[in-house]
Amino acid sequence: MPHDHDHDHHEHGHGHDHDHDHDHEFSELSDVALRVRALETVLAEKGLVDPAALDVIVDTYETRVGPRNGARVVARAWSDPAFKARLLEDGAKAIAELDYGGRGGEHIAVVENTADTHNMVVCTLCSCYPWPVLGLPPVWYKSAPYRSRAVIDPRGVLAEFGVRLADDVEVRVWDSTSEMRYLVLPMRPAGTEGWSEEQLAALVTRDSMIGVGQPLAPGSVA
Ligand code: FE
Repeated sequence: MPHDHDHDHHEHGHGHDHDHDHDHEFSELSDVALRVRALETVLAEKGLVDPAALDVIVDTYETRVGPRNGARVVARAWSDPAFKARLLEDGAKAIAELDYGGRGGEHIAVVENTADTHNMVVCTLCSCYPWPVLGLPPVWYKSAPYRSRAVIDPRGVLAEFGVRLADDVEVRVWDSTSEMRYLVLPMRPAGTEGWSEEQLAALVTRDSMIGVGQPLAPGSVA
């Protein structure tokens, strides 16, 4: 029986309580970037911030905190059933076992893809995203078309990302907030029996953890 989607917007009983601007659009991003740069310059000139320290923070989110963290979490779940059970029970707590956490990761729910159910994540109001495991969100995640269409036409959006699902697969759309962010646990690809966590992690793409992609095929990595 086909379903368009279940929009689990209120499933966790919390409001969409954001601590950041809701109405940013593409056109405003460059303006924001300019303002940030101007502020950074003024603060540095006045000796109030150390540009090197800022660089460390930015580098942390651009390179060290990124989707590779989430890939390791997924690979661990694929390899260790007890970890997977803990992950599905309390995402943030299990993720902390791998020393990933901090701002944007206080509450993370992990939703598991199965043969019957495909999960995808959106933030309809802005861009809430599980930073400690996925890093900074891609531009499209913050775009108005994705935010609106992921809810209205999830299968159409998935098709544009190249994800084709059988008609009897239920699509669930999870609406992130600053209080609950989501990580998709994709299905482990067939043909990876006996693979190490490191090998498995190499198959896990960022998009597969947002639910708009699938893991790479085993044959696609060395
Ligand atoms: Fe948001």
